[in-house]
Amino acid sequence: MITDPDCLFCKIIAGKTPSEQVHSDEQVVVFKDINPKAPIHLLIVPRDHIISLNELSVRHDGLMGHMIRLLPKLAKEQGLNNGFRTIINTGPAGGQIVFHLHIHLLGGSGLGGTGF
Ligand code: AMP
Ligand code: ZN
Repeated sequence: MITDPDCLFCKIIAGKTPSEQVHSDEQVVVFKDINPKAPIHLLIVPRDHIISLNELSVRHDGLMGHMIRLLPKLAKEQGLNNGFRTIINTGPAGGQIVFHLHIHLLGGSGLGGTGF
């Protein structure tokens, strides 16, 4: 497992920085976003320190499949029975602030339109 001691999400995964965790397994940790943009706003974060989608290789295919398939399960657990939104920001121009790959899962009131 690759970790970066200076990375915020690696610190959260290691339990050195507090978070409100809602799911944890061998491959990922899921916690609430500290600055939620919707009533439900979760971050699905791989335990491995992968910087972004740009750093993915074929060896991550199983992990990415796991993360994607986890999304509807988490949404159901959170009571998002009518749909949800997922976002992956990649690189500074893509709005990425934390350089440890993560999927945003958003839902609740106020989401609609085209998703931008
Ligand atoms: P991104 O812009 O895709 O890199 O998103 C980073 C997200 O991490 C933002 O939505 C932040 O609100 C969130 N965030 C930053 N610090 C923390 C923290 N300590 N705990 C939980 N979420 C955080
Ligand atoms: Zn990290």
